[in-house]
Amino acid sequence: MERRGWDAVDIVFVSGDAYVDHPSFGLALLGRLFESHGYRVGIVAQPRWDRIDDFLTFGVPRICCMISSGNIDSMVSHYTANNKVRNDDPYSPGGQGGLRPDRALITYSNRAKQAFGKQTPLIIGGLEASLRRLAHYDFWSDRVRRSIILDTRADLLVYGMGELQSIEILFRLAKQEPINTLLDIPGTTINISSKDFDQYIQQRSNYNFVTLPTYEQVAERDKQSNIPTAKGQKAYAEAFQLQLRNENPFNKTILAQASGDRIVLVNPPMRPLTQTEFDTIQELPYQRTWHPTYEAKGGIPALAEVQYSITSNRGCFGSCSFCAITSHQGRIITNRSIASLKREAKKITTLSNFKGNIHDVGGPTANFQDVACQQQKTAGPCQNRMCLYPEPCPNLQDSHPAYIERLEAIATVPNVKRVFIRSGIRYDYLLATGSEKSRQRFMEHLVNHHVSGQLRVAPEHINPEALAAMGKPKVAWYEQFLDNFYETTKRSGKEQYCIPYFIAGHPGTTLEAAVDLALYLQKTHFVPEQVQEFYPTPGTIATCMYFSGLDPRIGHDFAPVHIPKGRERRLQRALLHYNNPENKKLVLEALKITKRTNLIPILLGSKRNKLPQRTKNDTSPS
Ligand code: SF4
Repeated sequence: MERRGWDAVDIVFVSGDAYVDHPSFGLALLGRLFESHGYRVGIVAQPRWDRIDDFLTFGVPRICCMISSGNIDSMVSHYTANNKVRNDDPYSPGGQGGLRPDRALITYSNRAKQAFGKQTPLIIGGLEASLRRLAHYDFWSDRVRRSIILDTRADLLVYGMGELQSIEILFRLAKQEPINTLLDIPGTTINISSKDFDQYIQQRSNYNFVTLPTYEQVAERDKQSNIPTAKGQKAYAEAFQLQLRNENPFNKTILAQASGDRIVLVNPPMRPLTQTEFDTIQELPYQRTWHPTYEAKGGIPALAEVQYSITSNRGCFGSCSFCAITSHQGRIITNRSIASLKREAKKITTLSNFKGNIHDVGGPTANFQDVACQQQKTAGPCQNRMCLYPEPCPNLQDSHPAYIERLEAIATVPNVKRVFIRSGIRYDYLLATGSEKSRQRFMEHLVNHHVSGQLRVAPEHINPEALAAMGKPKVAWYEQFLDNFYETTKRSGKEQYCIPYFIAGHPGTTLEAAVDLALYLQKTHFVPEQVQEFYPTPGTIATCMYFSGLDPRIGHDFAPVHIPKGRERRLQRALLHYNNPENKKLVLEALKITKRTNLIPILLGSKRNKLPQRTKNDTSPS
């Protein structure tokens, strides 16, 4: 501040992540964006939360205090899927755990209120705020919690990616508009007194209001047993479905949920960025490294994953049940221009340790390089069906030629030797769109130029019911993709592999289904390196299933869903690593329960330790 001649900052921006000046880190992205609009931004990264001193590093801000718990929810950052404490944190110096509090948004908001007083507007955002904007199931307390805007007592909650709505908030606050009058900004959540609700509706007569079941209804518990009531669980699933139906920036729909004497109001989502806006934001003057104060502690591990990667697209129309990206980024894809991608690649080539390889050009899903269909540009995504589930929509358009064009353009940048794809490929989208020629052309490009030995794909399961609950494609799509990949690989004379990811314990997965998966792994000679376990994180369809036991998706009529919990969850996890001698007892138990002891010789006999890795001569999975 002294060097810049500032007597005060406009915004104090508090975050649970360490500061990495790179566009993959929300703190840097927004900080640089605000700076580019002329605001003075003071970043308070990972403050001590038992005192207010760190919050006051820059004094009281002139406009507002903004708070994010970081790139991921603070509870996910602290605890594993089995609720065990994690010792590490890739978003902290040296990967050290424990540098942010549990429920960081609430704690930071309390300290900020103490530090700056009530007169300083308090705005929360980031993934934790976004996915907890309405009443939500919280795995760690095994309770439904009310909207986090009430628990933090924040004035405004920004949900989604946040750039456009944050700029509008700052602009209006800078014009001296009181924070309690900023009721109409898309992509925000506010709360008002229930006494003022009728007047509020009258003021916004050009909007539709959808009233969700109240917090008290969705959180209802039996007074004697203290377990959630079936009525409450159904109300929760209904509220969730109403959210799903209204995630469209083109609909003027406001969601309203009463919670005690307050009404939480979720404004419609903010529109997606234009390509020019996206290019501009990605090309702000990031240093693409961590703050120098972290150097002595070994830096920030999370940077390694993205330092030489380029974000080319945003949004996801995959709608996998276990993923919250659709709820956060929306289903409408925004992509960047080729010129902008090339400029970013050029910048990466100047980094000191750059070895010539761009590690990734992608986004939430690598090959979603453009909107799913033209309708999304003018009316948003369909509210009554998903783009890829249960089958790919016939209106899907092929964005693979555009992807190849982008990859080829980046490869022409001087000093770039190879351009890889590390973001996941959605193979059903590849196989269902465009001509045979276009598909083969993409596959050849992929295999010949963009795989660094291993290509990650995410079938997640092979059992039809489990896949249906996950919203993932049928296994036949996966097998067709594998055949195609290995045939093309063989022709190219390369040695490279597809590495599939599978989830254990996802809602809708029975123990029988888990045995099927173990058998499939045995037959295809594949040994997963890591077992991914289902994690009921806030805001996902699967978490709604986990809590309610019902399928909230449109067209599923709140059908009951099997939820693996407790011992069954452990057995399902063990089945994924059935060949690990430590799991022998658990696998045996699972085979007995499912009456499939005929599989003992196959899964636990002498064959289990003779599992060769796939060789380049293998051209099919079975
Ligand atoms: S028409 Fe098909 S591709 Fe387009 S939004 Fe609807 S479901 Fe998705």
